[in-house]
Amino acid sequence: MSVNNNYKNTAPAPRKRGPGTAGVIAVILLAVLFAAAIFLFVINRWEIVIRVNGPSAVTGECGEPYRDQGAEAEVTGSILSSVHHQIPVTASAEGVNIHEPGEYKVTYTAKFLWISETAARTVSIVDTTPPQIELLTVEDHYTLPHHPYEEEGYTATDNHDGDITDRVTSQERDGIVYYSVSDEAGNIATAEREIYYDDRNAPVISFEGPEEVFLFKGDSWKDDVRAEDDADGDVTDRVEYETDLNTRKVGTYTVTYTVTDEWGNTATKKRFVTVKPVPAKAPKKMDPKKVIYLTFDDGPGPYTEELLKILKKHKVKATFFVTAAYEDYRDLIKKEYKAGHSIGIHTATHRYEDVYESTDAYWEDFNEMEDIIQAQIGRRVDIFRFPGGSSNTISANYCEGIMTELTQQAGEKGYAYFDWNITSGDAGDTTSGDVMYDNMMEGIHKYENSVILCHDVKDYTVKMMDRFLTDALEEGYTFLPITSDSPGAHHGVNN
Ligand code: ZN
Repeated sequence: MSVNNNYKNTAPAPRKRGPGTAGVIAVILLAVLFAAAIFLFVINRWEIVIRVNGPSAVTGECGEPYRDQGAEAEVTGSILSSVHHQIPVTASAEGVNIHEPGEYKVTYTAKFLWISETAARTVSIVDTTPPQIELLTVEDHYTLPHHPYEEEGYTATDNHDGDITDRVTSQERDGIVYYSVSDEAGNIATAEREIYYDDRNAPVISFEGPEEVFLFKGDSWKDDVRAEDDADGDVTDRVEYETDLNTRKVGTYTVTYTVTDEWGNTATKKRFVTVKPVPAKAPKKMDPKKVIYLTFDDGPGPYTEELLKILKKHKVKATFFVTAAYEDYRDLIKKEYKAGHSIGIHTATHRYEDVYESTDAYWEDFNEMEDIIQAQIGRRVDIFRFPGGSSNTISANYCEGIMTELTQQAGEKGYAYFDWNITSGDAGDTTSGDVMYDNMMEGIHKYENSVILCHDVKDYTVKMMDRFLTDALEEGYTFLPITSDSPGAHHGVNN
């Protein structure tokens, strides 16, 4: 207290503060700040952390939109790691071409003050999408069987390559067309088309010449029919025909041809065949009582040529019922025919046990002989004589009732058969020319129309013929060759 009193009346002396408290504080503050700055920016290091959203490598399909998931960035300190300061990120994705397969990079950049950081993402654009084939169809389109498919059209497009229609290949196999196309990346697309087959047209039947054909009775005729199908090609061998044609009977016949293609389309075409009578030479006016049909059976043989000379000498036309017995003399059939004689069928073998075994056996043997005759004279004949004549009973040993059937069938087939009313007797009764002469002369005096049975395979028959012809002609008889409308001198069937 006293101190305070001592200085009671004096002005207080200015207080001296020495270096000053404020300066110390400022220095301390500065030091603290400096230390803090050292800590903040030297001891503690700031860094930018970029977090790429999503995977660091992504794959995108060519042509499909690519949307980057971006990235985020923050600033954080190495010691002050609890600091997380978000900062903006810029991304450069301009390199990614979604239309071109390849590997691209998206770069992310973040900056804060003087530091910056980058990160990247790899983007692979790939093409795994196959192209697409579209098959076009044409309305009512069809393919003919056995024919190649006619393309209706197609298109092919690819997500990367665009229109690749011109790269499509196709192959036809077992009714299916297989299409295939590949894009540049090797992706393959395929398609299939089942071929629709159809055949709407029947084959076309054709033949040469007009629909109507004229033949003379006895002519042989073979049609030249052909058939062509749009799908199957030449189908001539499938043509079937139906006809009642009988070239040995005058009349008009229809031949109906039918052919069916594999698809079942049937075509039919008709042809009309008219068989006309053979134009006959004007018949001579004659006394019907004086006609002789001289017939010679079983040849031609070794004596036939001699007989032909005798007939020629007397200008006599006869009839030969021929067989195939003498192969070496077969060409005499032609000579007989050319000389104006009639030719008839007498079977090829003339063996009773064979020809009368059955009706089929008979006609088979008969046809064989007819073919031989046709080969010689170039036409078919329509007259014949049964071995043993129609009245023979030998045939009953082999087939009961066969003569009844054969005579009927002959008419149906257009053949006329001829027996005889006079036999010369040369078939075993006699070898004497005199006896034969008597038999024949007696016979011709008896009948209006004489059909005389002789055999030109007997030398004694040929030898006596000159005498008989001389005398018969002398008596005014006319000799005629047999034609299908000559009197038949039928014996009457006995089996
Ligand atoms: Zn005979």
